[in-house]
Amino acid sequence: MKPCHPLTIVQLNDSHAYFELHNELFWNGPKPIHKLTGGYARIGSLLNSIRNENPGSVVFLDGGDTIHGTYPAVKSEGFSMVPLLNQLDLNAMTAHWEFAYGPEKFKKLVKKLDYPMLALNCYYKKNNKLVFPPYVIEEFNGCRVGIIGIAASIVDQVMPPYFSTGIYFTEARLELKHYVGHLRNEEKVDLIILLSHLGFPQDIQLIQEVDGVDVLLSSHTHNRIYRPVLVNDTVVIQSGCHGSFLGRLDLELSKTGIKNISHQLITVGEDIVPDQEIEEMVNHVMDPHKEYLDEVVGHTRTPLNRNTVLESSMDNFLLKSVLNKIPADVAFSNGWRYGAPIPSGDMTVNDLWNIIPVNPMIMQAKITGREIWTMLEENLERTFSRNPYNQRGGYVKRCMGLNLYFKIENPYGQRIQQIFIRGKKIKPDQLYEAVYLTSQGIPPEYGRDHSTTEYNAIEAMQEYLAKEKKIDTPLSGSVVAV
Ligand SMILES: [Zn+2]
Repeated sequence: MKPCHPLTIVQLNDSHAYFELHNELFWNGPKPIHKLTGGYARIGSLLNSIRNENPGSVVFLDGGDTIHGTYPAVKSEGFSMVPLLNQLDLNAMTAHWEFAYGPEKFKKLVKKLDYPMLALNCYYKKNNKLVFPPYVIEEFNGCRVGIIGIAASIVDQVMPPYFSTGIYFTEARLELKHYVGHLRNEEKVDLIILLSHLGFPQDIQLIQEVDGVDVLLSSHTHNRIYRPVLVNDTVVIQSGCHGSFLGRLDLELSKTGIKNISHQLITVGEDIVPDQEIEEMVNHVMDPHKEYLDEVVGHTRTPLNRNTVLESSMDNFLLKSVLNKIPADVAFSNGWRYGAPIPSGDMTVNDLWNIIPVNPMIMQAKITGREIWTMLEENLERTFSRNPYNQRGGYVKRCMGLNLYFKIENPYGQRIQQIFIRGKKIKPDQLYEAVYLTSQGIPPEYGRDHSTTEYNAIEAMQEYLAKEKKIDTPLSGSVVAV
């Protein structure tokens, strides 16, 4: 590595298409508090000042889960975000939820971006060729930087099948070794940055197995890393979610590697003066939807959030709404991480779309007690596996109508101690009526008589809010670690 000018790396990850200022949850002693954060105009403004400080030496990278997650993004199949993202002047990006539009549409969207989409682990089924470039090399202030991308490897494993039509993903280990070697030995880069959407536990495991990466920008698991993690010689950070934070690394490089490093997890606070140009672009996207999204449709006494791993107040509201629409013994939905918190008070249509931006139809099935047990053991393993490669993302499956007691530390298949359904011990051979949202709620290999109802999740929530006047959906002990 040749000595070069200082370099600043800025990370945005998991912004989930939150165009504007929104609530974010912060742990504060015994209780969480909410603060207004985020929005691309404030992100742009921060970037401007960092770039003015260090002209020509700022690398701005996006870890994915960017172009999906709110109503205006999903309605336009991501295209409403393209001018904004180009204006932010990113250097590269990788992806996860972007595949929700289907690989073909996602590729069309990528063609409109001014920067490369990187994924060394995403291949066409028909010819095993890469869908996107695995890396890009760019020069910043005399420093030759190799940027490698890894997309979420779970897209073809646990996400709905249309996310991965015609493509497949790998764990990325072998490819990473190959490309790091190539960038070091043939391309003679000064610095290697890995932009990964595998999630923090997998990223740490991966970087213990593969040498040669200088900086790992981790995404997907919404970790707020206040101090960078050092694994061997690799610096690892992750920077929250919803565009509420930017990660900033200032590096001084020497012949032998990184000499000095300083890190800041910057909160994109309300007090930041928004970038005028980006604000106008955001308004252009938001204005046609404002009247619809700002309509007050109910009131919550409980602050709703998804910031807890075993059970969440936000999903309790979602599943109570589903059960109100279609009564059943049990209800299931996936343990999604995204979704800005909603403080107690009025709720708007916008809040509902943030809870479940895909707005799926409610599904029904019959499922035996034995299958529920097996499905939940599998889900606990996918959440808490001792082997990070077996973690498949998300929090514990959201459940309503049952009480599950389990031991986190036990091996796969031995975690669940007891399950009760509607207050009674689960019976292995009994068929239970279940409602669920998306194939992640009840995967197709479990249950029988699966059918799609004519009601969607948003209308179920709206109806429940209208009926209840003021909803109360605190944590109720549906899933308890014992
Ligand atoms: Zn993700």
